Amino acid sequence: MNWITNYVRPKIRALVAPREDIPDNLWDKCTSCGHMIFHRELEELLRVCPNCGHHMRIGPERRMEVLFDDGAYEKIELPQALADPLKFRDRERYSERLKKARTKTGQQDAIRVGHGHIGSQPAVVAAFDFSFMGGSMGLAVGEGLVTAAREAARRRAALIAVPASGGARMQEGILSLMQMPRSVIAVQMVRDEGLPYIVLLTDPTTGGVSASFAMLGDVQIAEPGAVIGFAGARVIEETIRETLPPGFQRAEYLLEHGMIDMVVPRSELRETMGRLLGHLMNSPAVRGTAAQPVAAATPAEPSKVDIAAEESDQSEAATAGNKEAGKKDKEAERASDG
Ligand SMILES: [Zn+2]
Repeated sequence: MNWITNYVRPKIRALVAPREDIPDNLWDKCTSCGHMIFHRELEELLRVCPNCGHHMRIGPERRMEVLFDDGAYEKIELPQALADPLKFRDRERYSERLKKARTKTGQQDAIRVGHGHIGSQPAVVAAFDFSFMGGSMGLAVGEGLVTAAREAARRRAALIAVPASGGARMQEGILSLMQMPRSVIAVQMVRDEGLPYIVLLTDPTTGGVSASFAMLGDVQIAEPGAVIGFAGARVIEETIRETLPPGFQRAEYLLEHGMIDMVVPRSELRETMGRLLGHLMNSPAVRGTAAQPVAAATPAEPSKVDIAAEESDQSEAATAGNKEAGKKDKEAERASDG
C-alpha cells in the first residue's frame, strides 16, 4: 500500500491494458437470437437482449457496477499467488497461457474482489472473470475467495460470490482441486461470524466451482438462462445413454427442482440483493455478533428458511419453521413493494 501500487501501477496498467472503448455507433448481435442491437443501447440494458431476454456474459468490473449502489465500490487488492507451481505443459506451457490471458484481460487472474454497499448494506463481492482462462479456479482464485471472506469478516459485511467458471484449473492439478475445500472453509469463516453469504450463479457455473462454495449460499440466486451443473450435458447423455429433458442444467430448471431459491433478471439484481441483505444483516444473529466478539457458541447464522418464507411468492419451496420472524418481515416487504 504505497503510491507506487496505488497510483503508478494503475497508470502503467491503463497504458498497457487492451483498450475496450468501442465506438458508440457499433452494432452488437445477440448471441442467442441474432437480433442486432445498438452497442450503447445494449450496455444500457446491462447486456440483456431486448428481443429474447438473453443475458449475455459480463465481466467482473461491470458486474460490480451492476450490483453495488450507484455502481461505486472499492477494489480490494489480492495477494499474488504462486504461478505455475507444477511447471505444467500440454500443447503449450501453462506459463505461456497465463501470460496470454494476462495480456488479454490486463488482470492477474480470474477473480476480482470489491467492497461497497448494496441496498445500503455493507458487502464484499467476489466476481469471476470468464474471459480469463474460462474463469477456472486455481491457487490465485482460491486466494481471492479467502481474501474476500477475510475482508467480509473484518468489515462486518456480507459476502457475495458471483461465479462464472468452467471449474478447476487443470494446469494446476491437485492444487486446483484443493481450492474446493479451501473455498468452503472461506465460506465457513463468514458463517462463523454470523454474516450472510449469498451466491449469484451466472452463466456458466460448472465443475469444481459448482461442487464447492458456489452451492453453499444462505440464498442461492441465479441469472435467467444460466447454465449450472457439474458435468456437461453431453457427457451425462453419453454416460447414462438417455436424452436429457429440455432446459436441463438451466437456472429455471434448477429452480423448478428446488436446487436454487430464485431466478432474478439482471436489472432487478441490486434491488433484490439489497432487500435480502436488509433482512439478513438486521437479523438477531448478525446484530448479536456486531456488538461483541464472536464466541464459539454463536447462535446459528441467518437461516435459509427465513428467506425462503419471505420470498415464497416466487418459490414454493418455502417450508415451515421460524414463521414468527418471517411474518413480520413479510408485512414490511409487502408495504415496500406497494
Ligand atoms: Zn436475443
